[in-house]
Amino acid sequence: MRRKIIAGNWKMHKTIAEAVAFIEVLGKNFPRQIDIEAWIAPPFTALEASASLVKELGLHIPIGGQNMHEAAHGAFTGEISGTMLKEVGCSFCILGHSERRHLFYETDQLINAKVRRALEIGLTPILCIGEKEQERERGEYMGVMELQLAAGLAGIETSLLQRVVIAYEPVWAIGTGKTATPEIAQETHRRIRLFLAKRWGESMGKQLSILYGGSVKKENIEALLGQPDIDGALIGGASLEAEQFIEIIKKVAKQ
Ligand code: PEP
Repeated sequence: MRRKIIAGNWKMHKTIAEAVAFIEVLGKNFPRQIDIEAWIAPPFTALEASASLVKELGLHIPIGGQNMHEAAHGAFTGEISGTMLKEVGCSFCILGHSERRHLFYETDQLINAKVRRALEIGLTPILCIGEKEQERERGEYMGVMELQLAAGLAGIETSLLQRVVIAYEPVWAIGTGKTATPEIAQETHRRIRLFLAKRWGESMGKQLSILYGGSVKKENIEALLGQPDIDGALIGGASLEAEQFIEIIKKVAKQ
C-alpha cells in the first residue's frame, strides 16, 4: 500500500509564535483517524517548537526540514545537518526542491548526496523533481525527470530506496497559480512510475508514493488526488493557513 500524504512546505514563512498558533488550530480541528497523513515542513527555527507541540497535542503529524547539508558535520558555516534535524524532532526532509535547484544552484549530484545521507540516518527524503516550462513545451519533460531521478537516486540500495517519497513539481506550476491539469499530472506520474519500474524493478514503480506539487489548493485537490497514480500533494502557499490546510485534507481524507 502506498502512503497517502499531504505535505505542507512553509518555505521562509512563520516565526516560532506563528508556527505554534497554526499547530494549535490543527490541535482543535484536525480530523482524527483518517486514511491520509499530514506532514509539515516549517523553517529551521520553528522545527523544535512545532515538533514538541504536535507531540504534546497527540497529533500524528510528522515534522520535517526543507533542506539539509549532505555531510555529517564540519566547517560549513550556515548549514544544518540531518542529525541536527532529527535531534529537534524531524522525521523527513524535503530535498531538491526547485527553489533549491534554481536559486541556490543545487545539482543532481549534490541532491543525491543529501538523499543518501538522509536515508543513512533514518530521515525520509521527499525528493522533488520537475521540468521547466520550455522543457514541457519542447516535449523534453520526461527526459529531464529521468535524469533527475537516475542521478538523485544513484547508488542507493533497493531496501533503502523504498523509503523515498517522490514529489513531482513542474517548475512552471510552483507558486504561479498555474496547476497542471489532473490529466497532465496523472500522465506524468504514470510515466515516472514506469521509469522507476524499468530502472529499479517493478515493485519500486508500484510502491513509491508520488506526490504532486504546484499551486495545489482546496479547489483542485480532489481532481488531482482522484487520479490513480497521484498519492498526495506537496503544498506551498495553500499550506500556510491552518483552516485552509485542514480543509484540503478533509476534502481528500476518508475517516
Ligand atoms: C512548493 O513549494 O513545493 C509548492 C508546490 O508551492 P505552491 O503550492 O505555492 O505552488
